[in-house]
Amino acid sequence: MTFDQEAVLRAYATAAEHGHARLTALDQRSGDGDFGDNLRGGLREAVARFDAGSGETAFGALGAVFLDEVGGTSGPLLGLLFTEIGHALAAGDDPVAAFGAGARAGLDAIQRVGEAQVGDRTLVDALAPAVEALPGGFAAGARAAAEGARQTAELRARMGRASYVGDRAMGEPDPGAVGIALLFRAAAEVAE
Ligand code: ADP
Ligand code: MG
Ligand code: MG
Repeated sequence: MTFDQEAVLRAYATAAEHGHARLTALDQRSGDGDFGDNLRGGLREAVARFDAGSGETAFGALGAVFLDEVGGTSGPLLGLLFTEIGHALAAGDDPVAAFGAGARAGLDAIQRVGEAQVGDRTLVDALAPAVEALPGGFAAGARAAAEGARQTAELRARMGRASYVGDRAMGEPDPGAVGIALLFRAAAEVAE
C-alpha cells in the first residue's frame, strides 16, 4: 500500500475547514470557543509551509507548526502527536505499522505532558482506541476514533477548561476528540 502523507495533510485541512463551525460550537459549550480556530489555523499554516517548500515532510511541517505556533492546550499536544507520526513514517516501510507506532508514541507523550487518562473527556478518548484499533488498518482506526469521540458526549470532563463547567458540556462530544477523529478519517480516506 502506498501512503501519501501530503494527501493526508490536505484531506485533514479540508476537514478542518468544513468542521470549523461545529468545532467552534463544541468548544464554546465546554471551553473558550477557540478550538476550531486553533485546528483550522494550524492546518492552514502547515499547508502553506509545506507548499512553500520548507523541505519538511507533511507531518514534519504539521508537528513544527502546532508545537511552535498554535495556541491553546491542544496546540502543543497535537504538535507532539504529529511530530511522532512524522518520525515514525520517515523510519518505517509499512504505513499502517508506522502510523500506528507514531500515534502510540504521540499518545504516550500527550499523556506524559497532559496527564489525562481515558475517560477524562479529552482527545485521549479518541486517540487511545484508535491506537488500539490501528493494527487492523486505517479504516478500523478511523472507526475507533469516531466512536471514541462520540462516547465523550457521555463523559464529565476532569481535565482542561471543560472541567470548570461541570455537566454543562455533557450531551455533546469533546471538540479535541472530534479533531482527532478527523485526522484518522483523513488517513483512512487517503489509504483506501
Ligand atoms: P484551550 O482549552 O486552552 O482553549 P483548545 O481549545 O485548543 O485549548 O483545546 C481544547 C481540547 O484540548 C479539549 O477539547 C481536549 O480534547 C484537549 N485537552 C484539554 N486538556 C487536555 C489534557 N490534559 N490532555 C489531553 N487533551 C486535553
Ligand atoms: Mg479552547
Ligand atoms: Mg484557548
